Amino acid sequence: MQVSIAGAGITGRCVAATLARRGADVTLYDPRPSDHTEGSSHGRSRIVRQAYPEPFWTKILAEGYDDWRVLEQWADEALVNEVGLWYLGPADHEELATGREGLDACGVAYDWVTTGTDTLRLHPGEAAITTPRAGWVNADQARAAALRVAQVAGVREVRAHLDQPAPEGCAVWTVGPWIAAKLPQLGLRVTRQWAVYLRGHHEGPVWIEAADDHPYGFPNEPGEATVKVALHSPGPDTTPGSAREPDPTIVARTAEAARHRLPQCTGEVVDVVPCLYTNAKDDAFRIFWLNERELVVAACSGHAFKFGPWLGRFVADVLQGHEDLANWPEFQP
Ligand SMILES: Cc1cc2nc3c(=O)[nH]c(=O)nc-3n(C[C@H](O)[C@H](O)[C@H](O)COP(=O)(O)OP(=O)(O)OC[C@H]3O[C@@H](n4cnc5c(N)ncnc54)[C@H](O)[C@@H]3O)c2cc1C
Repeated sequence: MQVSIAGAGITGRCVAATLARRGADVTLYDPRPSDHTEGSSHGRSRIVRQAYPEPFWTKILAEGYDDWRVLEQWADEALVNEVGLWYLGPADHEELATGREGLDACGVAYDWVTTGTDTLRLHPGEAAITTPRAGWVNADQARAAALRVAQVAGVREVRAHLDQPAPEGCAVWTVGPWIAAKLPQLGLRVTRQWAVYLRGHHEGPVWIEAADDHPYGFPNEPGEATVKVALHSPGPDTTPGSAREPDPTIVARTAEAARHRLPQCTGEVVDVVPCLYTNAKDDAFRIFWLNERELVVAACSGHAFKFGPWLGRFVADVLQGHEDLANWPEFQP
């Protein structure tokens, strides 16, 4: 089987690695350098986890979380830092109630805690749903590992745009936010996001806050004196390649959320790193055949990194006829 893959973000790399390890003849196209920062997969930490409150995603993550272990084996490198996840906020917040109901319905073990730690504050009246099978991966490290696995398995890299499928074989479009302009009929919205690095110290779990703009954050990475905090809510509309200057209002709100949550964070901003979300109205991915030789894999909605190794396996199964997309209406546009 010959496959051309357009886009070497985490999705394209995982698809390339999986297909090539299964013996496919794979060429991976991307016009940008391997460590570019114009798309969605660059930078430091990304949350990974075994469960969402929604059964659809938890069903996928039940396997998808372990797919990280498979990538670790292939790469012979540890990638997942399993520090647990706290989903926190006012104890009577509707999101915490539905979160617990969802985890109960999915049969996922969790604890309900009302006391914070030395580095992660719970204010009076607040609580957290804590799940142990969760944590973070370093995005640059994980992307490098997936590419190395792909290269060892024989994937050819071409530093160029792919505009149409090669005369032979299939094409897979894993072009991240660039898909929005290529296929405007999908109605995807690209927004600018900023990860804010603040001077501070936090050891322990990653955390997500039940609030309208969903602040979330990470412990220090080894050797780093900063913590990363961001907002999981769409920023201003943009296009890839547009201005990347930080929005001062969003940076200030993120710093305030960090100070509020982390007793050992001064709020001093050390760095702000831009990134792109590709937003679908229903937070789902768009995976569908554009025609009989072109498969679109739009891993959208700002939460796809954790699904990278699973997407690699799923897309390889689709291409090899082991999965039928008709069984996945959630992914159809
Ligand atoms: C600030 C931020 C925080 C996030 N946090 C999390 C998190 O904690 N957990 C989580 O699971 N997810 C998270 N995400 C989401 C996740 O990072 C993205 O969903 C994921 O990285 C998307 O990867 P991708 O490979 O689909 O796209 P990209 O990484 O954008 O890759 C697309 C690639 O396609 C290339 N390309 C474009 N056009 C062409 C063409 N014609 N031919 C060839 N190549 C082309 C581009 O150069 C680019 O390299 C976060 C995203 C952001 C922005």
